[in-house]
Amino acid sequence: MRLFLALMPPPALRRRLGELAEWAHARCGGRRVPDDSLHLTLAFIGEVSEEKAEGLSTWVEGLDVPGGEWRLDGWGAFRRPGILWVGSQTPDRAMVNLQASLWRDLERQGFTGRPSRFIPHVTLLRRARRLESDGLPLPDLVWPYRQVALLRSFTEQDGARYQTLARSPAP
Ligand code: ATP
Ligand code: MG
Repeated sequence: MRLFLALMPPPALRRRLGELAEWAHARCGGRRVPDDSLHLTLAFIGEVSEEKAEGLSTWVEGLDVPGGEWRLDGWGAFRRPGILWVGSQTPDRAMVNLQASLWRDLERQGFTGRPSRFIPHVTLLRRARRLESDGLPLPDLVWPYRQVALLRSFTEQDGARYQTLARSPAP
């Protein structure tokens, strides 16, 4: 199964991100990420066996995640896949540290694929026709987070669907 670690937005923020996705979609086209799927990926793990997935669930359920607040104040794009996203204008140290500590644990468990750089972002559009954010409202959002989720991704015709397998403990 295909797995990744992510933060899922609290409901009020999910709605705000959904509004941004709506505006962006009206202007830039492409495939809008459904509200239910909006997330911040911390580590893409990829294809693993059921046995390894169980081990990962147990690990996540014992994780001690330092909670924090992530400020989203800018737009960005990944040209090749046509992704338009919202995130920070400057790298967020706490988020970068969280990603690094998760990858240290993953590598200790034998997983590979740590990216050479990490840009915390929330994808709003894929295969967008246009990747400029001019004319779109500047985001100014705060994401309070405390729990990391282990998600399973199912590939479907109109995009991926995610299922939560495990969460780190609520503080
Ligand atoms: P789809 O691939 O159907 O468009 P998706 O990208 O959301 O949808 P997945 O490919 O399963 O679904 O990816 C799950 C998450 O992991 C997404 O946030 C995606 O951006 C991220 N991701 C996928 N592949 C990689 C990769 N090779 N490196 C880093 N992040 C990845
Ligand atoms: Mg993908």
